Amino acid sequence: MTTNRVKPVENQLARELLNCSRDVIVALDEQGVILVVSDSISKTFGWSPEEVVGKAYGIFFDDSCVTSSNEYLAESFDSEPNPVQPLIAKRVDGSCFPCELSLHRLSSAETNACYLGVLRDVSALSESRKSLRNNLERLNKTRRALKRKEYELIASQKNVYRARQAKSEFLANMSHEFRTPMTTILGYTELLRENLYSANQEDLVEIIHKNGTHLLQIITDILDISKIEMGDFEILKHECSLETILQVVVSDFLKPAREKGISIFTQIAPDVPEQIITDPVRLEQVLWNLLSNAVKFTESGRIDVRVKVCPSPTKEQMVQFEIADTGIGIPTEKLKRIFEPFSQVDNSSSRNYGGTGVGLALCKKLVQLLGGHLSVQSKVDQGSLFCVSLDHHAEVHSQNREDAAGLVREVVSGVPQGQQPSGQKKQLGGAKGKVLLVDDTKEIRTLFSYMLNKMGIEVETASNGQEAVTLLNQFSLQRSAFDMILMDMQMPVMNGYEATQLIRQQGYQLPVIAITAHSLITDREKCLAAGCTEYLSKPIRYEVLHEVVHCYLSQNAAILSH
Ligand code: ADP
Repeated sequence: MTTNRVKPVENQLARELLNCSRDVIVALDEQGVILVVSDSISKTFGWSPEEVVGKAYGIFFDDSCVTSSNEYLAESFDSEPNPVQPLIAKRVDGSCFPCELSLHRLSSAETNACYLGVLRDVSALSESRKSLRNNLERLNKTRRALKRKEYELIASQKNVYRARQAKSEFLANMSHEFRTPMTTILGYTELLRENLYSANQEDLVEIIHKNGTHLLQIITDILDISKIEMGDFEILKHECSLETILQVVVSDFLKPAREKGISIFTQIAPDVPEQIITDPVRLEQVLWNLLSNAVKFTESGRIDVRVKVCPSPTKEQMVQFEIADTGIGIPTEKLKRIFEPFSQVDNSSSRNYGGTGVGLALCKKLVQLLGGHLSVQSKVDQGSLFCVSLDHHAEVHSQNREDAAGLVREVVSGVPQGQQPSGQKKQLGGAKGKVLLVDDTKEIRTLFSYMLNKMGIEVETASNGQEAVTLLNQFSLQRSAFDMILMDMQMPVMNGYEATQLIRQQGYQLPVIAITAHSLITDREKCLAAGCTEYLSKPIRYEVLHEVVHCYLSQNAAILSH
């Protein structure tokens, strides 16, 4: 502690207080001459207290701050308390550092000290401020980049949505374009079948029908796989008879297997429940595909279709369908990719077997949607075994089969000699009524008219929605004018959706059955929302049309009595 024209700080406590501060504490006279300075001056500035006492306090600052330090001194004389002043301090070696100075005017007249100053080295603080500023800047940059990414993401989401939308529309149109001619081809082939003159013609028509059905199968498989990929695929699970499913599937292959000299044996183990909860249409589709391959790729021997119950990794048991053949088998290295779309063991131009390579990929996806899994084991020239395992969710029904005592049930077996009957045709009853048939394709109008007439039903036709509405108005919406409307949904002038809405608004209460060549879930919902009673997807087989028409005509009496 050094003094000049002030009395030395004699009080021991006061001296220690002054010197224990890390800041530099200084007393100045009115002109800013240093009178007393704390020992911390040495550590902060490199001067000894004696070296600075008697000098102007501007010695502490860099030349750039001389003016501002003098102004601050003058201001501090009048204003009390004066705010802290940031300045650049200069050490004895000429190096600079940021500091903060606060000056207080002293009121005591005891000494000639006029100001008490506290000078603080804020280098560390300003370093952290600087790094905080940098971090803030970086943060802002990141925030801006994030915002940009968000916009990009939203834009690409919109693109994905638009692409999905376009794909969906394309699929719907494709579906329409494929199914409309297929409806005509298959429908007319069915008609031809019934009006044959010679056995020779029968063979020809059979060929057309077989190939048409095959083509439709391919189209359906490709559309189905696209629909699954788009998430536009409906699974409708309910309790259904396992035996019926097997019968439907196996009976389709008895004849082709017989022609190749192969036997199909079907066995259901006794502990397999009679009813399972699943989507029977989709399960049939899977088993149909697998059996179709088994027949296609087997030249001799046998095909076994077995159903059994097996334990599952979860608590529930699983029903397992096995389709085993003694065919050409699949090489081990090809097995890994066999469930990938368009994957075929032999895809050369000289291959022996036709096919698209879509069937197994579709089966895999369908089985997953059904809540199960599909696997395969195979050996070249020995045969293949495809297994479909499903959670059956249903208890074994109480009415046990006669043969449940341990015997295996044999449902449908095909033997080369062909003693087994193929799928029985349902006996169709007659129906009465008058139907308004609305479709823009002339061939379809002729076909469906023929089918309906065959059922004993009178038919009036219209070629678009507008014509249908006009016709209904002409008949003044008489309650008995038309017992049912069969409405194509995609038509020029006025489509089926608009026409149905209009007809419903005008008070028509009887069934309107939508007929569409699209087959997406959304179409079904759209048809029902427009006011349709039921939805049928083209191509429609005679039996299906008969069943629907018959069912709704018999319900009409109940509707009209209300
Ligand atoms: P596709 O039969 O139309 O070619 P799939 O997806 O049903 O298409 O089958 C893909 C390929 O898997 C077939 O081309 C064939 O090489 C092989 N494959 C499928 N099932 C069998 C089978 N039971 N025996 C031998 N090979 C089979």
